[in-house]
Amino acid sequence: MQTRMFIDGQLQAGAGEAYTVFNPATGAAICQIAEASPEQVLAAVGAADRALPGWSRTVPRDRAAVLLKIADRVEQYATELARLESDNCGKPYLAALNDEIPAISDVFRFFAGAARCLSGSSATEYLPGHTSMIRRDPVGVIAQITPWNYPLMMMAWKLAPALAGGNTLVLKPSEITPLTTLRFFRLIGDLLPPGVVNVVFGRGQTVGQPLVSADPVRMISLTGSIATGQKMLEVAAQTLKRTHLELGGKAPVIIFDDADIEAAIAGIRSFGYYNAGQDCTAACRIYVQDKRYENFAADLASAVSSIKHGSQDEDGVELGPLVSSAHRDRVAGFLDRVREQPHMQVITGGRSVAGGGYFFEPTVVAGATQADEIVRREVFGPVVSVTRFSDVDQAIAYANDSDYGLASSVWTKDIGKAMRVSAELQYGCTWVNTHFMLVNEMPHGGMKKSGYGKDLSMYGLEDYTCVRHVMIKH
Ligand code: NAD
Repeated sequence: MQTRMFIDGQLQAGAGEAYTVFNPATGAAICQIAEASPEQVLAAVGAADRALPGWSRTVPRDRAAVLLKIADRVEQYATELARLESDNCGKPYLAALNDEIPAISDVFRFFAGAARCLSGSSATEYLPGHTSMIRRDPVGVIAQITPWNYPLMMMAWKLAPALAGGNTLVLKPSEITPLTTLRFFRLIGDLLPPGVVNVVFGRGQTVGQPLVSADPVRMISLTGSIATGQKMLEVAAQTLKRTHLELGGKAPVIIFDDADIEAAIAGIRSFGYYNAGQDCTAACRIYVQDKRYENFAADLASAVSSIKHGSQDEDGVELGPLVSSAHRDRVAGFLDRVREQPHMQVITGGRSVAGGGYFFEPTVVAGATQADEIVRREVFGPVVSVTRFSDVDQAIAYANDSDYGLASSVWTKDIGKAMRVSAELQYGCTWVNTHFMLVNEMPHGGMKKSGYGKDLSMYGLEDYTCVRHVMIKH
């Protein structure tokens, strides 16, 4: 197993404390990995700094060529990467292989093309006798921090635009699910000059914090929780580093009386529970209009109770375990508090599954009101709440009454209503009559406490460049 870090073109074992990595489906330890020491973190940042002048001067065509080769490597090692991702995260193996791997190679292909297509204002004489032009130059050394829910995909979302923009980087995966990232940097190491990409392993406080604080780092790119985002901003406040923050979500799903209810139920059954609900866009906060409410809740519970949970390779498995026992306890805590409130009913699921793995039953909570914790806080598990609403204005008000602003969806056959509601929702993305679908050409990112900055799309690439003005006096 590849457990070494990649620093300045060399594989290196960590010199810090050892940390155990588990298989969430069994609770068994997979391996122990030593964290980076403070010296190793600084060595990685130093290597990225030294590699910057060379890589930032490559032409877009050459960066694109490297990104295309990286995409090929993803496909070449698809089964190995999917196996490792599935074992480390507990995801169904076929979901990792068939859903995630193709999306990941396509991220690199998209940014290979995007690197060659940056646009800006036309170069011209905005002042007589002076020619102005816009440049989009690399930001510099980037510290990139990824979460545990989609380790390889979140790594791709960060690595591809940073390289396309001509930056160098040091990436730290989550200490809980580092295996595919460590393997991946080894797989692509020969495609890039030493120091352009580096990976360090360790926990947030011991390795992440010194990494983002290091002097040559010009930008901090985090996908993670709001609390960690706030810590990144504390560092940035002292150092004026750029920040790119993709934080949590609590997606509202508005279902009007006139919606195709069967499609909505099928949609929530898929998009509320994919990756065991450990997804920042999960369809988890359902609002259903009065007339449909009673039947909807019962029919959703019946659909959800048929979701098959199990370990990575079980036949027909749809739902894996939660990522850790601590996270499962956290999810179970939400359900304990729901049961203390008589106005809510757990109409299916609601309990941890006995056994070695960290499984939690797919759960529907009916009768939730806007004030309830289950409606307001991110659970990040296979738990969906259902709340009743009466009219369009109330639906919009409920949906927007949230700290989060990442993803949302509206279900109706009335296109006018769909347009009005989409316009008024304060979310980075609104889907109509679907949920969860991402394409590499379109931006993904939040509003409010879900953060700012875009992943994917040309906007994602722009975030990894600095706009500069050059003016020439004739
Ligand atoms: P987390 O914030 O606990 O950890 C994220 C990463 O930050 C990990 O690598 C962790 O080691 C690191 N970290 C923690 N403290 C740090 C510090 N002081 N300095 C530097 N690094 C530090 O989040 P998580 O539990 O791994 O992931 C779940 C969260 O991520 C959820 O809130 C989820 O919504 C969010 N998420 C958001 C998106 C998005 O696109 N918006 C995507 C996936 C996950």
